[in-house]
Amino acid sequence: MFSKGTPLFSILRSKCPKCHEGDLFLDPNPYHLKNMDKMHVNCPVCGEPTEPEPNFYYGAMYVSYAYTVALFVATYVVSALVIGLTMWPTVGLLAAVLIVLGPYLFRLSRITYLNFFVRYDKKAASKTKS
Ligand SMILES: [Zn+2]
Repeated sequence: MFSKGTPLFSILRSKCPKCHEGDLFLDPNPYHLKNMDKMHVNCPVCGEPTEPEPNFYYGAMYVSYAYTVALFVATYVVSALVIGLTMWPTVGLLAAVLIVLGPYLFRLSRITYLNFFVRYDKKAASKTKS
């Protein structure tokens, strides 16, 4: 869908922002809650650190906030304005959507935040392989 080399490719496929080949998370499924936040220390393909500095991912909370607001607005528009639900069913739907998508948003926020600081390098994967 999104070609390799664009930040969206890395974000949507949970790949290292430097080489777009290595996986960032140990467990590819975010819904295995025990391993939800476990990341490789370095990219298994190019060796790029997945946490550039201590407590790096505190900043990802702001990304998570932005994603959550966007999700809430979208859910509200669909439930209240398109479907026509009243207030409490809408609140319930918002809560359900947040709980169901929580682990996915957590990872999405981290990868998005990491993509702010690490740029794609098409030679990164081949540098360490050779
Ligand atoms: Zn990499």
